[in-house]
Amino acid sequence: MKLRKIILDIDRGFSFHPFVVIPKWAITIGNEASYLAHETVHWQRQKSFFRAIVWVIMYFTSKKFRFTEEVIAYGAQLKVQAAKDGLSVDRYYDHLALSLSSEYWGMCTFAEARAALVFDVQADGLPAKKVTK
Ligand SMILES: [Zn+2]
Repeated sequence: MKLRKIILDIDRGFSFHPFVVIPKWAITIGNEASYLAHETVHWQRQKSFFRAIVWVIMYFTSKKFRFTEEVIAYGAQLKVQAAKDGLSVDRYYDHLALSLSSEYWGMCTFAEARAALVFDVQADGLPAKKVTK
């Protein structure tokens, strides 16, 4: 089913196929595209309204499932944000790994989040290897 985007004045966005909910603040600060990229990954992987029910149950009962789904979504978000800002994807790993390791009910450590993000982004063959140190 076609993606249906909803904008609400809430703290965090979410997806429940066919709906993708984007928080108003993400638009206010100019991050709608990257936020939408994140939620669109969830929307795609949920596939349908009925599969979204299973997806949500898995999401809230399995740390491993939640971690996998969020790493993929964060990877997409990171690439869109880096492209928009004209910066290397390397600049975003720490910030997003901190979010992954602190905002999802203890699903991973910072080191696990960062390593998984780097792996996800590099697996897509994008310019993540431009290490800037
Ligand atoms: Zn997510």
